[in-house]
Amino acid sequence: AKRAGRNGYAVFDPTMTISVLEEAQLRSDLEQALEHDQFRVLYQPVVDMQTQCVTSVEALVRWQHPKDGLLGPYHFIAAAEANGLIVPLGRWVLREACAQLARWRAESPAAAGLKVNVNLSARQFQYAGLVSDVAEALADAGIDAASLTLEITESMLMEDIDTAKSTLHALRALGVRLAIDDFGTGYSSLSYLKQLPVDVIKIDKTFVDDVHIDADDVALVDAVAGLGQALKMQTVAEGIETDEQWTTLRTIGIDHGQGYLFGRPAAPDEINELLTRVSAI
Ligand code: C2E
Ligand code: CA
Ligand code: CA
Ligand code: CA
Repeated sequence: AKRAGRNGYAVFDPTMTISVLEEAQLRSDLEQALEHDQFRVLYQPVVDMQTQCVTSVEALVRWQHPKDGLLGPYHFIAAAEANGLIVPLGRWVLREACAQLARWRAESPAAAGLKVNVNLSARQFQYAGLVSDVAEALADAGIDAASLTLEITESMLMEDIDTAKSTLHALRALGVRLAIDDFGTGYSSLSYLKQLPVDVIKIDKTFVDDVHIDADDVALVDAVAGLGQALKMQTVAEGIETDEQWTTLRTIGIDHGQGYLFGRPAAPDEINELLTRVSAI
């Protein structure tokens, strides 16, 4: 932890030492957290753009930290990715989300057609045991593969295209659905996208933020809607917060929406209420 000082001397930088220590601490804390059941899954509704009916929920992980309270993924996903703990953590989220879907279905007839979306990290996607983990999570929860959508980002697909393709096909062979997350922020080419067995395109929030006031964003989202139609992929717009955004995206023809306007990430029992409310309308 030495750094060249203002006048050329190597000086001791105490903050750098602390951050290395903190990283080691975070790593062991994360291991402990997994062991002691401190992770939680919240679920955010994805709705039909026309009817606002909930069609699926996205599983979003949180850490119920004993001292710091409920922490979002930005506090620990990168560290877990770096030290490999993301593989067992991601497996836990996957199993929990499948089990929760089975519980909702057992509790409420309104949840019969509900699906669940689970995010995969890059490391998890490269992990050789992924396909069998997914198969096992489905079988143990007793849910059909078509009820699970796995979300992956463009950058994860671009790293090693051939391996990515074969993993996607193996997952598809199980019967799970595949979504490209944060679409538009990566660099996947159209011809490449065409070759992938993808069912859903999730349009990143950055294109949604100003869509009600910015003609360029309308043009971009419109192009993605056309792409979805041409490639027979469903489109989901992320991060919808206002009626104006919703109206604009609905008019463009986006199939599904997700965002605070329809519901924030919530605990399972809150989703239960949401389901009965929606089906009662
Ligand atoms: P993401 O997959 O793009 O998930 C959407 C994020 O946007 C979530 O943040 C969600 O709470 C937030 N969001 C949804 N609607 C709105 C809105 O209307 N306005 C605003 N401002 N935000 C909205 P969250 O839960 O903090 O998750 C952040 C990211 O962490 C996720 O982005 C995903 O990349 C990652 N993540 C979350 N859970 C998992 C997990 O279980 N495994 C992995 N590998 N990554 C996860
Ligand atoms: Ca996602
Ligand atoms: Ca996203
Ligand atoms: Ca995003």
